[in-house]
Amino acid sequence: MDVLPLNKGIIYGPVKSRRLGRSLGINLSPVNSKLCSFNCVYCHYGWTERVTKDVKNYIKDFPKKEDVFSAIREALASIAKPDYITFSGNGEPTLHPEFESIVKEVRKIRDELTPGTPIALLSNTSMLNNQGVKRAVSMIDVKIFKLDAGTEEAFKKMNKPAAGISLQDIVEALNSEKDFLIQTVFVKGSIDNTKEINLPEWIKAIAAISPLSVQIYSTDRPVPEVGIKKVGIKELEEIARRTEKETGITVEIFGVRN
Ligand code: SF4
Repeated sequence: MDVLPLNKGIIYGPVKSRRLGRSLGINLSPVNSKLCSFNCVYCHYGWTERVTKDVKNYIKDFPKKEDVFSAIREALASIAKPDYITFSGNGEPTLHPEFESIVKEVRKIRDELTPGTPIALLSNTSMLNNQGVKRAVSMIDVKIFKLDAGTEEAFKKMNKPAAGISLQDIVEALNSEKDFLIQTVFVKGSIDNTKEINLPEWIKAIAAISPLSVQIYSTDRPVPEVGIKKVGIKELEEIARRTEKETGITVEIFGVRN
């Protein structure tokens, strides 16, 4: 089994997810080669070919917003009402240069065609200090942010971020957000974020940013980094209970990241 190919277009699914039910996915990322501000060792789309948060040289590779709107209209007209409409896909959705106006219009389309369906965002948080992205995020109903590390060293190893992105900036950005969920992938083997050198710091970060809840996963899909191993359910449970005890925040376990 190989890592997944990139999505071929703007709309994918509806996919079934434990957290989001039947979710209609919107991919705002380029489909010609992977572009993301992170290069996570466990990304099931493989290594990021363009690791950047500065997309000015790649504008033409992003889907045009008019195409996004017509693709969503077409999808919603042809499927049963989804449980969620989710910005996710094979890169970081908030890197789209017109993310704010896209979110605004998708809300209008949602209100017209499938009123009441919540709009969700899966984000790696790297753009949250951009004012336009911040405004867009405030229009999202269910915000799920990635936080895989508690130390800069573990962050660099796990997420291999683009130049200029630090864990400290991400935690500070999350500190100013409200009503969001955190999603964390734990792995072992050649890279390991379950170790005592990282875990207590991650728990401290969770306590500080105070999300509504935390979802933790491991992965048993093919990943790009050699030597990555899945964290077993027993160990995930230990991490969950310890985090709940130390932070008072609910931690849910998902066997496989979805
Ligand atoms: S942030 Fe998401 S899309 Fe980007 S490399 Fe990490 S897992 Fe893949």
